[in-house]
Amino acid sequence: MTRGGIFPDMVDERALEEELGEIGRRLAAAMPVTRNPLKAIDEKAMDLASQDAELKAALFRFVDVVPACRSLEDLARHLTGFLGEVEQPTAPIGVAMKMGNTRAGRAALGAASAAGVRRMAHRFIVGEDPKAALGVLRDLWKDGVASSVDLLGEATVTAAEAQRYADRCANALDTIVAAAARWPERPQLERDSAGPLPRANLSVKVSALTPLLRPDAPERGKRDAADRLRPLLRRANELGAHLHIDMESMDSRDAVLELILDLLSEDEFRSGPSAGMVLQAYLRDSPQTLDTILEWLGRVERAHPLTVRLVKGAYWDHEIVEARQHGWDAPVFEVKADCDLNFEHLTRRLLDARPAVRVAVASHNLRSVSHAIAYNRLSGGQDGDLELQVLRGLGDPLQTALARQDLRVRTYCPVGDLVAGMAYLVRRLLENTSNESFLHEQARGAALDELLARPVASTPA
Ligand SMILES: Cc1cc2nc3c(=O)[nH]c(=O)nc-3n(C[C@H](O)[C@H](O)[C@H](O)COP(=O)(O)OP(=O)(O)OC[C@H]3O[C@@H](n4cnc5c(N)ncnc54)[C@H](O)[C@@H]3O)c2cc1C
Repeated sequence: MTRGGIFPDMVDERALEEELGEIGRRLAAAMPVTRNPLKAIDEKAMDLASQDAELKAALFRFVDVVPACRSLEDLARHLTGFLGEVEQPTAPIGVAMKMGNTRAGRAALGAASAAGVRRMAHRFIVGEDPKAALGVLRDLWKDGVASSVDLLGEATVTAAEAQRYADRCANALDTIVAAAARWPERPQLERDSAGPLPRANLSVKVSALTPLLRPDAPERGKRDAADRLRPLLRRANELGAHLHIDMESMDSRDAVLELILDLLSEDEFRSGPSAGMVLQAYLRDSPQTLDTILEWLGRVERAHPLTVRLVKGAYWDHEIVEARQHGWDAPVFEVKADCDLNFEHLTRRLLDARPAVRVAVASHNLRSVSHAIAYNRLSGGQDGDLELQVLRGLGDPLQTALARQDLRVRTYCPVGDLVAGMAYLVRRLLENTSNESFLHEQARGAALDELLARPVASTPA
């Protein structure tokens, strides 16, 4: 079934770079120029954070307590507490800290930050609940863009919270499937050469499905998560929806991988639903993880190909800090170009492994995306057999450009309330303020040729 392994000589590298350059230039030209003044304000906030390492560190610590905050005033109190650790605060931070000193000030700060956060949140979060998100999902679909809904509310602490998240997921499936039945036909989003593609697509996080997911006792966490994941798989199967399981930090990676492969091998789930998982290219051992997935695909027959969403990984800073704290070697690449090259390497292996896998390349990096499209074409694939994925709010111009080029694009759409959305927002903010981020480079006006250039490995292969 698979073409197997990577064959660097399968495509001519020079022809590939030429094709990739053409694709990248065409996509760049098709990106709309956004002149929304509110976006410029958010970008100022991002600039501020990118220049200040201490501010960034304070924001990281803030993210950790966000799930425990119950109100905006609570959020404001924690935020000012963390900002108080910044030794030389810039003027706006100084003002925020002073406001945090009194109850009235905290309430005012809460309200002011609520207004700012709400505005910013609308860029990244499509609605407070799935029903409120339906308008955006339908508009995207009409514009030739599929979606995957993600219910915000990361790690859970109690069984009751985990069950509430599972119930919200089940309701979201019902709501989206019912609404999607009324969407107009979009053949390019609804079928590839392996068969029909569900219109409704939900992404779930295992850490939200169990409070017991701990690296020292993975079996307990897996069992508990499986008890809540099975009914969701069942529901998705009945409704003909796609269920995608996100990947989180390294301490849960093995448990999540095993959980997905075990559940999808169960007899009940051989016939469906359409399901998928995530491969993180920033992990040094991701090629071995792909070996495990391919080996599994070779022995487990399912009615639907497994969708593999290839990402670089959203927890890079967390993995680096965690490894330093314990004196371990970082599980992630530490040179950005090495991560980017591994992403390309895995893109090729995944595309070579079709039709057992459906490949979804999730990136806002024009080089990474153009590479996937070019490799697919030069190795004989159809455009319709490659899915490109972006995050709502970060990948909007790329999303539009991909849809305009008749490429299959899916936008990951977070849904939830503001407090639950804060951790997500701050993580996106930090990701974008990294000097090595593609979007940061693009925003500072780097030349297109530079953005599309082949990454150079830190140590020659
Ligand atoms: C649709 C979608 C779904 C996603 N789902 C998940 C998910 O389930 N799990 C998950 O973890 N992430 C997920 N992500 C997030 C994704 O991992 C980040 O958006 C992505 O890392 C940013 O990569 P990029 O290619 O867009 O940008 P780029 O700017 O090219 O890459 C930035 C990334 O490079 C890596 N990096 C940064 N600095 C270094 C360095 N010094 N050395 C090595 N590597 C470095 C980090 O991973 C960083 O995020 C998803 C993204 C999308 C678009």
